[in-house]
Amino acid sequence: MPRDFLKGVEDQYDVVVIGSGLGGMTSANILGRAGHRVLLLEQHYKLGGLATWFLRPGGHVFDISLHGFPHGMIKSCRRYWNRDIADRIVQLKNIRFDNPQFSLTTTFNREDFTRLLTTDFGIAPAKVNDFFDTARGMNFYDDQAITTRQLFDRFFPGRDDVVRLLMEPITYANGSTLEDPAITYGIVFSNFMNKGVFIYEGGTDDLVARMKKELQSNGVDIRINCGVDRIHVKDGKVSAVETHGRRIGCRAVVSNANLRTTILKMIGPEKLDRDYVDQTEAVRLNNSSTQVYMALKPGEEIDESSGDLFFTSTAEEFRTDLLLSRDITSRTFSFYYPRTRPSKKERFAIVSSTNANWADWADLNEHDYETSKQDLVETTIEALEKYIPGIRNKIDRAEAATPRTFNHYTQHEMGASFGTKFEGLGVSRALPQQVGGMYHAGSVGIIMSGWLGAINYGVIVSNEVDQQLTSESQHT
Ligand SMILES: Cc1cc2nc3c(=O)[nH]c(=O)nc-3n(C[C@H](O)[C@H](O)[C@H](O)COP(=O)(O)OP(=O)(O)OC[C@H]3O[C@@H](n4cnc5c(N)ncnc54)[C@H](O)[C@@H]3O)c2cc1C
Repeated sequence: MPRDFLKGVEDQYDVVVIGSGLGGMTSANILGRAGHRVLLLEQHYKLGGLATWFLRPGGHVFDISLHGFPHGMIKSCRRYWNRDIADRIVQLKNIRFDNPQFSLTTTFNREDFTRLLTTDFGIAPAKVNDFFDTARGMNFYDDQAITTRQLFDRFFPGRDDVVRLLMEPITYANGSTLEDPAITYGIVFSNFMNKGVFIYEGGTDDLVARMKKELQSNGVDIRINCGVDRIHVKDGKVSAVETHGRRIGCRAVVSNANLRTTILKMIGPEKLDRDYVDQTEAVRLNNSSTQVYMALKPGEEIDESSGDLFFTSTAEEFRTDLLLSRDITSRTFSFYYPRTRPSKKERFAIVSSTNANWADWADLNEHDYETSKQDLVETTIEALEKYIPGIRNKIDRAEAATPRTFNHYTQHEMGASFGTKFEGLGVSRALPQQVGGMYHAGSVGIIMSGWLGAINYGVIVSNEVDQQLTSESQHT
């Protein structure tokens, strides 16, 4: 008999959270802690969404998206999760770049970038200061008019090398491009420059296990393998969600699933204003990614001088289309040492990431798809050999993930790794005005994506849900 993943589930909750990405889990945790009855439904057999891991023979554990996030994660995790989680967040101090325009090592914060920009790149200190202050002062209400390219043109005209240093890591961190509103750059760049790049020391398996424990201690009912097919609306308000053919009643829904899927498929256009549907249909998804996960044989090591994060490129200039091309020129290597990523067995691992377009992978037949994946693994190891000679012989296991992999495991349309472009934020925020009690909290608008953005958006939205539920309770 098939397992009943809904065994013991109640008929009615205060709030149902759809999806256990960082945004969904954070919302569920805050609402559970506030005393609401919360059901968390995840379609996959694991929690974490893109912030998860997988295990392979030989005891190799691979983290999917644990490469780096800003210092702000410590505060958000301490406040909205717990101290145990916050205390495991550590800085990555050895960030490297190598491309035809420059090779350098940095701690990736304002102080060190000021040093690099003034001494290595010859920019006047006052100009560098002004740039940092302008980026940090950007806010949602004033700064949507100019693009990131225009921002750079204003400060560093004709300096493609400077743009590359300032932009390449942010494109990697949130998928934004020179054509996106400058605010999407300014906020994320300033978050990193505040104190540098951080990761979670125990790996995502440890993080998600701790989050699960905290959710359970706050009374959240967690169900995996429970994809939500429909969100039911009655008299303009959410009334229930449907999973495995069963309706579960609720007063509010927080969807952590893809924004477009939530609105156009789970709710359905017929329940919404035409204008709003048009706006949703016009929301562009962000790009996806390819990754190559490489685990070293037991006893093999990588020297720590390899760095923590290493931005490499063979492209002569910095161009968004080159960053996304199937003809890969840019690879960012994450090096995991037993110190930065402890696990039961002392192991070293390397993950190579490259931004990618869904269209380049979507229509390949199975044979071509497998061949392309193998080619991706081979060319990545070749590229790595340039920096770590002999690495090929040290690798025990290597495998690739593509936009199709991310689409398969998270159901994000086009395998989007960072949600939607900027316009998605307004659509996400306007959802409760379309359907009472219906909220979205997940990667959108570039700003609200990545680990920190997703968690913080989960916080914002859960506060709104809490207000709704509390005020309804006071009026009944
Ligand atoms: C390869 C890669 C590397 C990355 N590296 C970094 C990094 O170094 N630093 C960083 O800050 N960010 C990184 N990111 C981005 C970051 O991981 C994400 O922005 C963030 O984890 C997304 O969180 P989220 O809350 O939006 O939910 P998601 O992680 O997108 O999760 C959504 C969840 O909803 C579930 N779901 C979908 N549909 C349904 C349904 N119908 N019913 C039930 N459940 C459903 C999915 O299964 C999933 O668990 C990376 C992303 C990728 C892909």
